[in-house]
Amino acid sequence: MLGTVLYGAGDVRCEDVPDPKMIHPTDAIIRLSASCICGSDLLPYRGLNETPSPRAMGHEYCGIVEEVGSAVTSVRPGQFVVGSFCISDNTCPHCRFGFQSSCERGEFMVGAQAPYARVPLADGTLVATADVPQDEMIPNLLAVSDVLGTGWYAADAARVQPGSTVVVVGDGAVGLMGVLAAKQMRAERIIAMSCHKTRQDLAVVFGATDIVSERGDAGVSRVKELTKDIGADSVLECVGTQEAMTQALQCVRPGGSMGFVGVPHEVALDGETLFWSQASLQGGPAPVRRFLPHLLDIVLRREIQPGKVFDLTLPLADVAEGYRAMDERRAIKTLLSVA
Ligand SMILES: [Zn+2]
Repeated sequence: MLGTVLYGAGDVRCEDVPDPKMIHPTDAIIRLSASCICGSDLLPYRGLNETPSPRAMGHEYCGIVEEVGSAVTSVRPGQFVVGSFCISDNTCPHCRFGFQSSCERGEFMVGAQAPYARVPLADGTLVATADVPQDEMIPNLLAVSDVLGTGWYAADAARVQPGSTVVVVGDGAVGLMGVLAAKQMRAERIIAMSCHKTRQDLAVVFGATDIVSERGDAGVSRVKELTKDIGADSVLECVGTQEAMTQALQCVRPGGSMGFVGVPHEVALDGETLFWSQASLQGGPAPVRRFLPHLLDIVLRREIQPGKVFDLTLPLADVAEGYRAMDERRAIKTLLSVA
């Protein structure tokens, strides 16, 4: 089959790769309905992470179960499934505590920018829908696998409540999903920090009530102005740079919370600043599995349309252009058709 392989910085190719095979009796093989490119895929693409040997790319997926191992009991061939980018058994102490992204048997999904993929620990990782959904629903369901789940976790970790004032730092796909999540959690005011017109417009579609286009200290001052010098109850940090983390922390009101889901790159926080901020901090890789049943439910009831975050669709053969478009910020998120 065709699959996506990253060879090094700026060098991603669609090429012939071996078909995925069952390795363990707990595995499933799925036929993907669609795949997509993640902001985190850009880290090795930009050379910010090492690529010592070629690697199979793709960790966001949904599709039809083709085959299951002898130990798999909760999904069967023919069912439509969505899984998290974090593989989990969903039974260990961390999973039961709701942090499936720290599963004792956990690993990251790989090789999903392809027509078929192997999903390890299928029982703990996959959730099946009652029926096979219509094609038009695929982008919305695919988004649940990572980008929506991660934005949702940012809002959950930042303890968004009905009536909250929320600041979202980052206008990438995850930040936009954070806006959607905050809206769904009935935040009253959602301040999206973005200086790009198309992303500002989409943030408003997803529920932002205010846009702050200034960055850094000027952005923080603007948030303070909008919140009568109080700061936000909840801040979602969806970038992972020093500037974004600092900005996010400065926007939290004393006693408020910050959820940080941007993969950090050379970020250092000062102890004294943390001490005086009186903020609660929670972050890390999103335990999407915890939220999967609820998110699938509200997507299928058409309460939310996270699939709007995909603003470019390409065939798998053009995956390299998909990476380029996101790298150059010409696209927010690229959907790959794999059929
Ligand atoms: Zn576990």
